[in-house]
Amino acid sequence: MYDAIVVGGSWAGLSAAMQLVRARRRVLVVDAGRPRNRFAHTAHGFLGQDGRSPAAILETARAQVLAYPTAELRRDEATRAEPCDGAFEVTLASGATARARRLVLATGVIDELPDLPGLRERWGTSVLHCPYCHGYEVAGGRLGVLAVGEQSVHQALLLPDWSADVTLFTNGAFEPTVAQRDALAARGVRVEPRLVAGVVGDGPALAGVRLRGPDGPDGGEVVGLDALFTGSRTRMASPLAEQLGCAFDEGPFGPVIRTDARKETTVAGVYAAGDAARVPHNATWASADGVTAGVYAHQSLALA
Ligand SMILES: Cc1cc2nc3c(=O)[nH]c(=O)nc-3n(C[C@H](O)[C@H](O)[C@H](O)COP(=O)(O)OP(=O)(O)OC[C@H]3O[C@@H](n4cnc5c(N)ncnc54)[C@H](O)[C@@H]3O)c2cc1C
Repeated sequence: MYDAIVVGGSWAGLSAAMQLVRARRRVLVVDAGRPRNRFAHTAHGFLGQDGRSPAAILETARAQVLAYPTAELRRDEATRAEPCDGAFEVTLASGATARARRLVLATGVIDELPDLPGLRERWGTSVLHCPYCHGYEVAGGRLGVLAVGEQSVHQALLLPDWSADVTLFTNGAFEPTVAQRDALAARGVRVEPRLVAGVVGDGPALAGVRLRGPDGPDGGEVVGLDALFTGSRTRMASPLAEQLGCAFDEGPFGPVIRTDARKETTVAGVYAAGDAARVPHNATWASADGVTAGVYAHQSLALA
């Protein structure tokens, strides 16, 4: 029996595990190895690690957690979690099972990208989700925002701090109100109402977006861009929280596991941290919430 099983061994999960193993608790981290920002070559804004690759940062973090004698890691996927004799049993894709007195769900989210030719393969390189993470590197360039809904106005209003050349492609996702048009114009953002047919460029680089032509997706004008931002909808990367009966809230991008200030879910003994259990999202916030979950999972064991 472990003291805690942490499902998800990325920013949030390793941060939770670090607190628990430093409190000398037996911890199993189960990780499928698909962190959300694995598509990006560099991670930015994470203090002390700015500009390193996400894989390298996580490799260091993993090694530091596993240096503690009560830490264990399995490269596997947790497929089921259920209460069992006052604890929790987790079943892994390999068929193994493990039990623990506390669970930390740090399973992250999956981006549901707009279904446009050429977009998915540039995700994390020239198609970007967040100006705070990757805006500095494309500052001064021709920037676009591909709207996924009205919330894209917010992203378009921010981007002029990174470049004076910003175009919002509404792409039929919403119709800006007069007030939104005025706000965008005041920030110098152009609004392109024509539909987008695809994203074009050489390799991972971006040449621009192709607008739909009068007779279909081919033959439309290409609007030159150096980077395209889009705020995707997200869904849970794992069904475990739902299986356990945790409550969810509807966030601006998708469902969010409901937690209290200690990052405990509505199911006693189950904690949740990282993108799956908060908005907004970035690696620092995910790590900070992982620390909160780890500390309070430990205190709930110590003071039970
Ligand atoms: C393209 C891109 C670039 C980004 N760049 C930055 C950046 O530069 N700086 C920044 O601060 N933020 C960046 N972010 C945001 C950042 O990636 C997330 O906020 C962060 O990854 C969230 O950490 P997390 O631990 O909650 O989830 P994740 O990092 O997504 O990790 C979840 C882990 O859980 C595992 N998992 C899921 N389900 C299971 C299961 N059932 N069993 C076992 N394991 C499971 C996954 O495989 C994964 O390893 C970027 C996001 C994207 C999409």
